[in-house]
Amino acid sequence: MLARLAPTPSGYLHEGNLANFHLTREVAREAGAALALRIDDADASRYRREYVDNIFVVLTEQGFDWTIGPRDTEDFESNWSQRNRTAEYFARLVDLSHAGIPSYACTCSRTDMSGVPRGGCPGGCRDRGTPLAAGSSALRVQVPAGTDVTVGDREVRLDEALGDFVVWRRDGLPAYQWVSLLEDERLGTTHIVRGEDLIASSAAQAYLARALGIAHVADATYVHHPLVLDAQGRKLSKSTRASSHDREGARA
Ligand SMILES: [Zn+2]
Repeated sequence: MLARLAPTPSGYLHEGNLANFHLTREVAREAGAALALRIDDADASRYRREYVDNIFVVLTEQGFDWTIGPRDTEDFESNWSQRNRTAEYFARLVDLSHAGIPSYACTCSRTDMSGVPRGGCPGGCRDRGTPLAAGSSALRVQVPAGTDVTVGDREVRLDEALGDFVVWRRDGLPAYQWVSLLEDERLGTTHIVRGEDLIASSAAQAYLARALGIAHVADATYVHHPLVLDAQGRKLSKSTRASSHDREGARA
């Protein structure tokens, strides 16, 4: 059994990240699960080395110990960075069609997306059959209407919560849902602790995990915790300047 701390080095850690880490450690302890550190740097466009340094400094300060994962920034960049696995993530996309999961290239731009109330392609790409072209289209998984996904003891209507979600981005990088699933597969994750705002993401990953036969993720123990809010009641995130540990750090 394994739980993981999964910060994203796109900003300094904030109190919300720390609350997530402490709860994750608690969940691991109670379950007798190992604790891993997984640094989600697949989104190379936002990567900064100092954010990785910050993760190690803060985790050490807070007395965290993990048995799997990088020990320091140098170890991380040499041996664990997800940015070195882009080709591997891309190669795994073929598993979707092997598993009978329909996907399609979406050529809609960000401007097309504005005004669309939830995720999903706003422009009818589902029926167009355009092949994926890195740099000009994203790859979306088709989520049939009425798709209910079990996430721990909860049920999520995935087509309503997220719609046809992206697994490969327009800019040629893997999307969060895809990386997170493949990394949890690699680690053998069985306990997943996330903020409540990520319940739809958990459902998307559990949905793919079920279809791809990654049972320990599909049937993982899921804990979704309330978000840590600032004094104005806003979620601590990259758009909100947070106090001591500064900006956004984890999506888990
Ligand atoms: Zn589209």
